[in-house]
Amino acid sequence: MVDPRVSGIGMTSARTRERLVQRLRETGIRNASVLDRIRSVPRHLFVDEALSSRAYEDVSLPIGYGQTISQPWIVARMTEALLEGPPLEKVLEVGTGCGYQTAVIAPLVGKVFSIERIAPLLDRARERLKELDVRNVRFRHGDGAQGWALHGPYDGILVAAAPHAIPEALLAQLAVGGRMVVPVGPEGEQELVRIVRKEDKLERQRLGAVAFVPLIQGSV
Ligand code: SAH
Repeated sequence: MVDPRVSGIGMTSARTRERLVQRLRETGIRNASVLDRIRSVPRHLFVDEALSSRAYEDVSLPIGYGQTISQPWIVARMTEALLEGPPLEKVLEVGTGCGYQTAVIAPLVGKVFSIERIAPLLDRARERLKELDVRNVRFRHGDGAQGWALHGPYDGILVAAAPHAIPEALLAQLAVGGRMVVPVGPEGEQELVRIVRKEDKLERQRLGAVAFVPLIQGSV
């Protein structure tokens, strides 16, 4: 049986989701498995019920604690940029938030290690992913700027909040051949960057202007 709460009706229906996927295609998202995930992850379950009619608009929405669920286009773009290259075994995610990005990427990689500094957000994300039967994720409450050295190095690192400069600890936990996608810069001047670690250097690609909440050091 399909659970109607997950499959959606009306403004959360399959047709509404398909419109979003079409829009992402038109705005440059190419990776078919990423588009499939955007189609199948029920974004309306990651926002407050009062906002569920807007869940399949290509906008960021409030999730409490001054934080937001990222715009679907940004989630798709970051996932696509991270996946480009050899398959990813271990991915570190900094800034779990509501867990939507986590749910999108998890089945496309081996294992996700996800860190969030706001405990109640993390608890809710954990619950939702369990409900959606996404099982290859380990969560941690803490300061993601420090990474999660125990499980590193990672062949993928995805940062969902913007530091002024990329934290050294994260660069140190990026494996050779690994890639990191991270928004960098102060509010109003952020840019999405893809870093690839080669044997002897870091390669840096610029993916365009973005607007993220700031990466804040320390957990609460
Ligand atoms: N990935 C989410 C969006 C997260 S918004 C989505 O799918 O929509 C960014 C998140 O990063 C917020 O929840 C914020 O609390 C968290 N964050 C900010 N600084 C952090 C830090 N130093 N360590 C861990 N999480 C952090």
